[in-house]
Amino acid sequence: MTLLELTHPHRLALFLDFDGTLVEIAEKPDAVRLAETTRVTLARLQRTLDGALAIITGREIEVIDAMLSPFRCPVAGVHGLTRRDAVGRAHATAVDTAFLDQAERRLEQLARPEAGLLVERKSHAIAIHYRGRPDLEHACIEAMEAIAQLDDRVRLVRGKMVVEARPSGGDKGTAVAEFMTEAPFAGRRPLFVGDDVTDEDAFEVVNRLGGLTLKIGPGKTHAQHRVADTAAFLAWLDDIADTLEKGRTIG
Ligand SMILES: [Mg+2]
Repeated sequence: MTLLELTHPHRLALFLDFDGTLVEIAEKPDAVRLAETTRVTLARLQRTLDGALAIITGREIEVIDAMLSPFRCPVAGVHGLTRRDAVGRAHATAVDTAFLDQAERRLEQLARPEAGLLVERKSHAIAIHYRGRPDLEHACIEAMEAIAQLDDRVRLVRGKMVVEARPSGGDKGTAVAEFMTEAPFAGRRPLFVGDDVTDEDAFEVVNRLGGLTLKIGPGKTHAQHRVADTAAFLAWLDDIADTLEKGRTIG
């Protein structure tokens, strides 16, 4: 497959989004399952890239650990507000729990009488998912905009059928930039893969770093390359693992 030709794949640092990239998006965030074949591919890549593989996600790090288990790798969670580096050290932006409590109460007021809306409280952010009620998109965004007015350090991030309020001071781009200053990522060429608007920060950073960027699915993007869907990407990723393993045997 010639989706994206890699000249020196063994010198890559691989940064992968999770939902919509390694797993298909499900109706509810809890319903996604990582395929065993994908877990095997990740383990092969981690081995052949000397550990230079990280997940950059909107989810909490612990949730990703549970989804990937027994596979484990460095992770940036909550769109870059939390991060566990390659030696297992935790990095996190300060949390304003009073703000999150207040935001949660307001969102519950909106969600409770309506079936199909899901309020997700995270350690550092709060989100409302409207995949079950796309007709309420406007109401959800309006409520979130009102919440963002409460604190000028808060910014809104929109994803696929979800809007999140979070403190400014870290995104997927800054998370990748931080990993790139540390072993085993430093000195390698970053490749970032994602499917959603929250991945655009990382696409821009990786483009600036001279890396490669790959967008899954349709939509406006800063990524240099595009692949149609998750299945096509996973097949390509498995081919890369084959190439890396062959390279090791030969070289
Ligand atoms: Mg995604």
